[in-house]
Amino acid sequence: MRILITGGAGFIGSHLAEAHLEKGDEVYVIDDLSTGSLKNIDEFQENEDYKARFFFSHDSILNHDKMLELVGICDQVYHLAAAVGVLYILEHPFESIRTNIQGTEKVLELCNKFKKRVLITSSSEVYGKHLHAPLVETDNIIYGPSSKFRWSYAATKLMDEFMALAYHRTNGLEVVITRLFNTVGPRQTGAYGMVIPRFVGQALRNQPLTVHGNGKQTRTFTYVKDVIEALMGLMASLEATGKVFNVGGTEEINIESLAKKIIGMTGSDSRIEFIPYEVAFGKDFEDMQRRVPDIQKIKGCIGFEPKTNLHGILERVIYDMSRNLGASSR
Ligand code: UDP
Repeated sequence: MRILITGGAGFIGSHLAEAHLEKGDEVYVIDDLSTGSLKNIDEFQENEDYKARFFFSHDSILNHDKMLELVGICDQVYHLAAAVGVLYILEHPFESIRTNIQGTEKVLELCNKFKKRVLITSSSEVYGKHLHAPLVETDNIIYGPSSKFRWSYAATKLMDEFMALAYHRTNGLEVVITRLFNTVGPRQTGAYGMVIPRFVGQALRNQPLTVHGNGKQTRTFTYVKDVIEALMGLMASLEATGKVFNVGGTEEINIESLAKKIIGMTGSDSRIEFIPYEVAFGKDFEDMQRRVPDIQKIKGCIGFEPKTNLHGILERVIYDMSRNLGASSR
């Protein structure tokens, strides 16, 4: 099978590329390296078993001719290329909106032209600022005003979902939509906001762990390999076609407790420093206080349940980041 992964040099995309290479597929990646990195895919280009089946294009998904060529030769498309990370979105508002809207439109237009099955990665951000848990795919959506720029990301991802569903309804295009909750694992960088790599990095360097707000906001975390299993399972399931699925973990923890757990697990001398949201992100910011998925729908469709609990996720991230830190300080 020939697989196209947009954003395949990113954190999740590179794990997906690796899983398809392991399976014996040919993998085509297009990435503009805005948040992705060659470091994530270098090993595929060097691996004797993979290198003849791995093809990388350093390009934008807005490049029509390149995308025409890639979608044309591949059998299935995973669309992961997007502006990601709260910090990145706040710092690059215009590029984020353009990539998420025009980029997805391009992917869908070409998948429809060649009738290629496509999986769209949406986000738990789409739900907005609910306080209840768990979040079900059919829940209403609650956003703040457009002056609070965080919601631009949710709005673009919601528009992506509408576009994909419209192609399915009107043209019979085989689409699957996944709402990814906080995903964590090796290769994720803390540079764009992501809390676990930031806290682990801070703890390993004995720096203060920067908890935003009062730290009572909660999240669940999913190990990246579990997410990959979910994405591949949904891609392979005809029953998933035309539907929206939450993909996430169910172990809810507040951010202050997460910081304490990471300090304990790393044996760090770090303390916790509470940073007001205005200082971290400016005054036009609103956080989501709670974010827990209901995963009955994906469980019912492909039997998916995450295998790695939070402790296991943190063990793997701490191991991976300490090795990299050791290597960079040698
Ligand atoms: N967070 C934090 N300190 C950091 C980075 C993030 O307290 O250095 C908080 C952030 O404000 C949010 C939660 O951790 O409440 C998860 O943030 P992340 O950016 O990982 O993902 P989000 O769920 O916000 O998309």
